[in-house]
Amino acid sequence: METINLTRLGWESQDFVRRVEAESEQNVRSCYQCGKCTGGCPVAFAMDVPPRQIMRMLQLGMQDEVLKSSTIWLCASCTTCTTRCPREIDLARVMDVLRGIAREKGSIGVPEVAVFNDTFLRSVKNNGRLHEVGLIAYYNLRSKHFLHDVLKAPVLFFKGKLKILPGRIKKVQEVRRIFEHTVQAGRERA
Ligand code: SF4
Ligand code: SF4
Repeated sequence: METINLTRLGWESQDFVRRVEAESEQNVRSCYQCGKCTGGCPVAFAMDVPPRQIMRMLQLGMQDEVLKSSTIWLCASCTTCTTRCPREIDLARVMDVLRGIAREKGSIGVPEVAVFNDTFLRSVKNNGRLHEVGLIAYYNLRSKHFLHDVLKAPVLFFKGKLKILPGRIKKVQEVRRIFEHTVQAGRERA
């Protein structure tokens, strides 16, 4: 399959492209810019750079611009782009890898998404399931959006949709083991 030659890029850019390709196991250089990914993306309207352009910027080794974009954080991992891509590039996986690299470099374009993600996973790790009240409280505190959604809480509470105390599943240790394996696998890939 025809791909873009990286040798015209600087070493740092080449390393970046190679790392993204290795970690995602995708050939981002084979993208021929048809735009089918952007055309089907349900979140493209809110992104600062459409998915097709992210792929082009990747091919050009534009590390800072890619990692600072809101796109990689707004991507909902719905895989519509993945199923539409005529080059069979798993864009959702590429976005996932980019989020990981952006985190590592402290370059988080939409901090609220990272805070929400951390808070959500922490709740699942601790209890084996999500505790919505804890999620809202912790997210609002850490994101400094103190009053976000608080007016909805009483309504949901009286409808029996919110539990004040977290419920813990019986085999929570197994869920924690999944987290540990995942972290370990990430370390080994790095
Ligand atoms: S659908 Fe695939 S080939 Fe087309 S622009 Fe998107 S990533 Fe590139
Ligand atoms: S996986 Fe992300 S980039 Fe792809 S279509 Fe879904 S939201 Fe858009």
